Amino acid sequence: MAACGRLGSVDERRGAAVESKLAINWVWDELVVLTDVLERRGWREIRSTSEDALELSGLLGRGLLHPTVALPDNFRSVNSIQLKSANIRTTRPSYLGRKTNNNVLDKRVGDAFDRDLIRMRSEAAVIRVFLEAGDYVEQDPLDVDRAADEGKVLRTLSVRRERDPKLRQRKIDAAPGGVISCEVCGFSFSARYGNRGKGYIEVHHTVPLHVSGPRRNSLDDLALLCANCHRMIHRGGWITVDELRVLVTKALS
Ligand SMILES: [Zn+2]
Ligand SMILES: [Zn+2]
Repeated sequence: MAACGRLGSVDERRGAAVESKLAINWVWDELVVLTDVLERRGWREIRSTSEDALELSGLLGRGLLHPTVALPDNFRSVNSIQLKSANIRTTRPSYLGRKTNNNVLDKRVGDAFDRDLIRMRSEAAVIRVFLEAGDYVEQDPLDVDRAADEGKVLRTLSVRRERDPKLRQRKIDAAPGGVISCEVCGFSFSARYGNRGKGYIEVHHTVPLHVSGPRRNSLDDLALLCANCHRMIHRGGWITVDELRVLVTKALS
């Protein structure tokens, strides 16, 4: 399953967004790859004419980390690589000049490199493997029931992410009125399967970790879904619970 499958080739996806010119926010995994290069350069800015900029633009420009959006023409161009590297530099403790763009995520990534360089370098290396293979699909860390059939490489990626197995149960326990049913279609495992389905539901991370980076999840970041809706939310890149609800309503009308 290719994460980029939904909107066709890179060229088609770029073409689709020529009009919109919307900036697409950098996600955690993109910042990790860029910051890794920046750190190795001793935090010297990555000029648009440098080989590093060219390489990063090639790696990130295919938009594998943004599988469900149309890409603007200048998406992760060498110029945008230079700009982002300059922005990250301004969040460094050693930077004394004027702050340009105080993006919270930029700073969090830089801090993570300061805290644990070895770990972040290896995280960047793993992300690169996926991007170079052109097949980036993140396993939902809470999908414990489905981890077995997704293939070895995908599991490697999810295993290194933070997990909190207790969170899953806390979310189920917090279901309003003790009614455990799918937030999209209302399906209830116990209503359909009786005792065998009692207490069963799948728990889904609404904010993918490749976007947010590691963080303490709250119950609000989780959704209860039946197995079918859960599959559909992940298929061809993550969509939101609301987006799936709209699709279901449309399909039924
Ligand atoms: Zn459902
Ligand atoms: Zn999920």
